[in-house]
Amino acid sequence: MAIKGRFAPSPTGRMHLGNIYTALLSWLSAKRKGGTWLLRIEDLDPQRSKPEFARLIEDDLAWLGLEWDEGGYDDRHYCQSCRGDIYEEYFRRLRAAGLTYGCRCRRADIMASQAPHQSDGRIVYAGTCRPGTKPPFSADEEYQGVATRLFVPDRVISFTDGVCGAQSINLTDYCGDFVLRRADGAWAYQLAVVVDDALMGVTEVLRGDDLLLSTAQQLYLYELLGFEAPAFIHVPLLRNEEGRRLSKRDRSMSMEELRRRYTPEEITGMAAYRAGLTAEPKAISAKELLEADGLNFPWDSVVI
Ligand code: GLU
Repeated sequence: MAIKGRFAPSPTGRMHLGNIYTALLSWLSAKRKGGTWLLRIEDLDPQRSKPEFARLIEDDLAWLGLEWDEGGYDDRHYCQSCRGDIYEEYFRRLRAAGLTYGCRCRRADIMASQAPHQSDGRIVYAGTCRPGTKPPFSADEEYQGVATRLFVPDRVISFTDGVCGAQSINLTDYCGDFVLRRADGAWAYQLAVVVDDALMGVTEVLRGDDLLLSTAQQLYLYELLGFEAPAFIHVPLLRNEEGRRLSKRDRSMSMEELRRRYTPEEITGMAAYRAGLTAEPKAISAKELLEADGLNFPWDSVVI
């Protein structure tokens, strides 16, 4: 089977070393197996996404030698903001199957109904607006101006992650019925990412492990929509000196600052060392990493 990896950044800021690390690993993982790599711009959030950030992401990737085989900002087919009609089509299928319902709860109501709060800040929806105990729910309801939620069953979804190993998640406990379309009409990431990865023929999803558990939501959607799921590889997020995950606030790790101080090879060398691929943080280009023998890929030992 032809391998296809992907990098799917949200253009809401300049990339930092953590984003580069994930991009490099996903590029190497696909390319090392003779596969291709696509770049999808996840600009679903109209308030936070900016074309100039998409351009900077592309410029930083190209500067580092992480060339993509398809996609990018100039091919609007690979920008989520231009794919609303496609999401609509799959949304309609779920709705026609009676699996969705309109939800009028406000965020504050949902937070108030949670006792106790989840330690990771997650919200578990209690099903307040669910029109009955079990689907099918009426598909005739007018959904304008309200969020649309997807019914989740009370059963465990299991998968084997390429780094984190066997996972078993019950969506009822993890998140409850989740949002497919927000009240303002914006498509939810969970629906868009599944439709896109499936229609774009992605066979492996390598990304940060902050998305590990939400993979169960995505697998449920793969199942409902009749798509074949890709392999999932979740790598640990890079952390700063205080042990917190790198963010836009860590200015010294921003590509703007890194490009002032280092060569592309020094940066890819740093990312490869942080990933445990190399024994020391010495300068090495993306292409050299691709051709190097004896790199220690943490996911090679896990059978997916
Ligand atoms: N767009 C998401 C982000 O930038 C990544 C989604 C994914 O890789 O599935 O965090």
